[in-house]
Amino acid sequence: MHQLKKGYKCNCGKVHDAGIDEYIVKNGAINDLPKFVKNYSCKKVFIVADVNTYSVAGEKVCNVLAKNEIEFSKYVFNNTALEPDEYAVGSAIMHFDKSCDIVVAIGSGVINDIGKILSSTAKIPYIIVATAPSMDGYASATSSMSMDGLKVSLPTKCANVIIGDTEILKNAPEKMLIAGLGDMLAKYISICEWRISNVITGEYFCDYVAQLIRDALKACADNAEGLLKRDEKAVEAVFEGLIIGGVAMKYAGLSRPASGVEHYFSHIWDMRGLEFGTNVDLHGIQCAIGTMYASKIYEQVKNIKIDKEKALSYASNFDYENYKNQLAAFIGKGATQMAEIEKREGKYNVEKHRERLEVIIKNWDKILEIINNEVPASKEIERIMDVIHAPKTSAEIGIDEKDISFTFKATKDIRDKYVLSRLCWDLGIIEEIKF
Ligand SMILES: [Zn+2]
Ligand SMILES: [Zn+2]
Repeated sequence: MHQLKKGYKCNCGKVHDAGIDEYIVKNGAINDLPKFVKNYSCKKVFIVADVNTYSVAGEKVCNVLAKNEIEFSKYVFNNTALEPDEYAVGSAIMHFDKSCDIVVAIGSGVINDIGKILSSTAKIPYIIVATAPSMDGYASATSSMSMDGLKVSLPTKCANVIIGDTEILKNAPEKMLIAGLGDMLAKYISICEWRISNVITGEYFCDYVAQLIRDALKACADNAEGLLKRDEKAVEAVFEGLIIGGVAMKYAGLSRPASGVEHYFSHIWDMRGLEFGTNVDLHGIQCAIGTMYASKIYEQVKNIKIDKEKALSYASNFDYENYKNQLAAFIGKGATQMAEIEKREGKYNVEKHRERLEVIIKNWDKILEIINNEVPASKEIERIMDVIHAPKTSAEIGIDEKDISFTFKATKDIRDKYVLSRLCWDLGIIEEIKF
């Protein structure tokens, strides 16, 4: 188990702080809940769950609290498909029992996001009893919400304690197990891109943080065979990996350790889903498919011969106004923000491109070495995805594959981060990438 750092002065120059105080992953971990409640000198627990998560672990939580003579109140959402929106937050706050001095949420994504908001609003400690190893938001200090009909990431607070009882986690729906490992596979790409950006743009990088992710990811890949057999070691590796993903982002103060171009595929599918009603799937499932595509593109990039003149002429002939219109038609409302980012960043500026290209050419061997060290062969990623029965193409989750090429182009514009699609554009080869 990783020793969480608080105020750790790292060689990278940053002070790393985990955000969460503690996490525990083991069979029967739920029995430690009273100990954690007492550690925070709390007297009365407010339990939040929904009907699904309550049926998984609600009774267990109530029993273990009662047995230890800890009082509690509870609010169970009766929605089977709870949305993380104003209604849910308002409902949780209106049902909140003000005599409680700690929140214990039982669930995964949505319930955890609501639990963070509730506890930060009430300014009291927060414990999450996880019901599925499905995403890496457990250790993060933000809540992914719908607000005024838009997807937003609200700053909230980290859980004080994360409890992962493998007896509960291993019985999560199969799709959630696949999604959890999928969100971990993404880290092959995110670490690679973080290092590439460090070389090309001089962006901050910390190898201590990167190594935490590599180790966690290796444990997940090594145990992948056991995941669908609900082997506790495999489930534990994924759950701990997801926590470390969140901790690593907190350490670094950025999303680089856990998210790269593969997450942007997923963001675009989510945006198009909201705007045009196209299909969407679980975050981790979409990220795994993004990882599959990214690994194949890296293989193509490794085999090119850099042609400086071609790259320069591609950049100078690039018609940004035309592209911006295509982007608006493809993404919808979210494209306005992308145009704002470009105004600030000027990634399509020919002078800036020329400078980057010089750095890329000078460091090409180093970049190839990074790709070779961080991203496994696409065949290996494919093998792991087959083992866990994960979909490997967008078509398998009901998203038209003819849109993939433009989706990849649009990943450049989501944030001001240097990712694979930016590298392909800089090299003048983005039109040639095959899917
Ligand atoms: Zn560091
Ligand atoms: Zn993720």
